[in-house]
Amino acid sequence: MAIIPPHIVDDIMQNSRIEEVIGEFVQLKRAGSNLKGLSPFTDEKTPSFVVSPAKQIFKCFSTGKGGTVVSFLMEKEHYSYPEALRWLAEKYGIQLPEDKPATAEELAAISERESLHIINEFAKDHFKNNLHKSDEGKKIALSYLVERGFRPDIIEKFQLGYSINKSDTFTSTALEKGYKLEYLEKVGVSKVKDNRSFDFFRGRVMFPIHSVTGRILGFGGRTLFTDKKIAKYFNSPESIIYNKSEILYGLHFSKSDIIKYDNCFLCEGYTDVISMYQAGIKNVVSSSGTSLTREQIRLVKRYTKNITILYDGDAAGIKASFRGIDLILEEGLNVKVVLFPEGEDPDSYSKAVSSSDLEDYINKNQQDFISFKAGILLETEENDPIKKATLIKDLAHSVSLIPDQITRNVFIPELAKRFNIKEEVIWNEVTKYRNEAATKEQKEARRRQNSHSNTQSYSSQNNSASIDNRGSFDAKFDPYSHEPSPFKDTPDLPIEILDDHNEHDLMRILVLYGPMAINLEQIGEKGEKTLLETSVTEYICSSLDEDELSFDNPAFASMYQFINDSLEENTFLKPDFFKSQLDQKIVKFVSEIEMNKHELSHNWITKHSIFTNSEQDKLKEAVLGSIYSFKSSKVEKRIKEIQKNLIKLGPEITSEELMELLSEQVALEQIKKAISVQLGRIIIH
Ligand code: ATP
Ligand code: MN
Repeated sequence: MAIIPPHIVDDIMQNSRIEEVIGEFVQLKRAGSNLKGLSPFTDEKTPSFVVSPAKQIFKCFSTGKGGTVVSFLMEKEHYSYPEALRWLAEKYGIQLPEDKPATAEELAAISERESLHIINEFAKDHFKNNLHKSDEGKKIALSYLVERGFRPDIIEKFQLGYSINKSDTFTSTALEKGYKLEYLEKVGVSKVKDNRSFDFFRGRVMFPIHSVTGRILGFGGRTLFTDKKIAKYFNSPESIIYNKSEILYGLHFSKSDIIKYDNCFLCEGYTDVISMYQAGIKNVVSSSGTSLTREQIRLVKRYTKNITILYDGDAAGIKASFRGIDLILEEGLNVKVVLFPEGEDPDSYSKAVSSSDLEDYINKNQQDFISFKAGILLETEENDPIKKATLIKDLAHSVSLIPDQITRNVFIPELAKRFNIKEEVIWNEVTKYRNEAATKEQKEARRRQNSHSNTQSYSSQNNSASIDNRGSFDAKFDPYSHEPSPFKDTPDLPIEILDDHNEHDLMRILVLYGPMAINLEQIGEKGEKTLLETSVTEYICSSLDEDELSFDNPAFASMYQFINDSLEENTFLKPDFFKSQLDQKIVKFVSEIEMNKHELSHNWITKHSIFTNSEQDKLKEAVLGSIYSFKSSKVEKRIKEIQKNLIKLGPEITSEELMELLSEQVALEQIKKAISVQLGRIIIH
């Protein structure tokens, strides 16, 4: 490729608007003088990707990537520097110096990736030329497309072409031009057998498949033969530039309309996309015959949170496609479904009726996933109670996948109404599925954690012996394990994590062992000892009260509120009380600790059934250890805050402020020391 002279590079940089370019990939919203969106480099839920139109730069706070419009294209599209410039030049209509035909040397120097893109570009031109210029193409293929009702401007827009029905018309042309057979084969346009090369596509209408930015990644080819033995469609094989599960056909053309209408129509075929587009419904893509993948959904998610699936009236795969609906829900998108009349697909229907009738049909026939699934599954079996129960469970499962609680709670009454069943029943079912998923996820996380090195887990060496005795459960969830002093064993963990861990542990004890009795020695003012019998809950609450401490984690804070309130009424809350809370963080937490309690009772309590004295002692140790750890992490947290304040105020600090902060710090250090002494007493016997 020819070198782009510096003055043209300047020109390109002057004319490019970073917000426009990135806007093609990311849905950006104004945030002050900047624009903000979801990072295209990670799978984040809260936007941390910032574009500054004033400075013409971007910064991704999730990945640390940042730079100019050119660096963005290089990161996002894996373009080389000149490629990024070329892309911008084309977008902004800047004339580049004539490309000289590449020399063999230059060609070899271009990366493999590049070569494959270039070959696809060449193939596209070749196929287009066949369609419009060759006799065979004009007679067979162009007339076919015209007969099917595709307008010339649309044929041009989608860059449709034709592959000649001979063994190697394309391949021999490409070889003559100097393209390497190795790359032709890799990108899938040619095949090699017994030292002879052939065209992969023959006698087919060619549909180039574009990346979001419009580069050609591969082709779909529709045969013009009616012979049933010939596959109707051929697709390019996967290559380093073409990963089927990450591509949606048509997205390059539709993305701006998807953003504009905040909705994406999803259909099955190439012709569906093109015909819908021609009918004026341009926010349309297709998964091209393969079942919908998570990556494809995430691709859509960059532009909208709403997907409307358009199904053929007689699609055999509708039931199989339910998985796709669940995946969409799981990704937090809204899904609607339109079923076309028997025997029609979006392509045929859009040609059979006017554009406005097509729009009307879609508007009138779109249903939410509940009525859609119900309609399909109950078509003939509305009165079969078993079928009905299975379906309700199935739908409750779908609802349980929706990450957003409010959205979930909107669908529950909907579902209850549809089947004339109590909301509560659906609620329980949804909660059950969510708990199951949470448990599974947690097991998965623990498995991962276990396979990590010991230093990453909270359990210290001190504990390992007792863990071994009792089998495989995790020390983190064992109420009788001795928590290591946060000062001795885990000095490197950030205080937030430690704090959260300690809150987690204390709340676990409150929920699981709150009503149990413990005996404690109390030392009075004059040094006299009295024996105090109290409940775990009572002891913990009064102890936190004393130091005016509370839980910082919002879910724990609200649980603690409940516990405190019930204590005033002299009742204890069962774990089930928490599991019926709306806040799924609470439900998840209690389910997790309960699950681990089962393991414990299996390993331990069932063997003894009643608590022996030594077990009583262990409960006491667990409670005290947990309280002290909780307190010390709060103290530590406050010390850290003070230190931060000292740094923040810097030299500007007044001497009063300084004194105040320092004296608090000194006091806290003393408390910290006192606590760790007490903690040490509990741990070290
Ligand atoms: P046409 O209207 O030209 O017959 P269509 O899009 O209606 O095409 P369908 O049979 O409904 O074709 O298939 C839907 C999509 O599934 C196609 O557009 C294509 O992407 C994919 N497909 C169909 N048949 C095959 C095949 N044999 N191999 C690979 N993909 C296929
Ligand atoms: Mn069709």
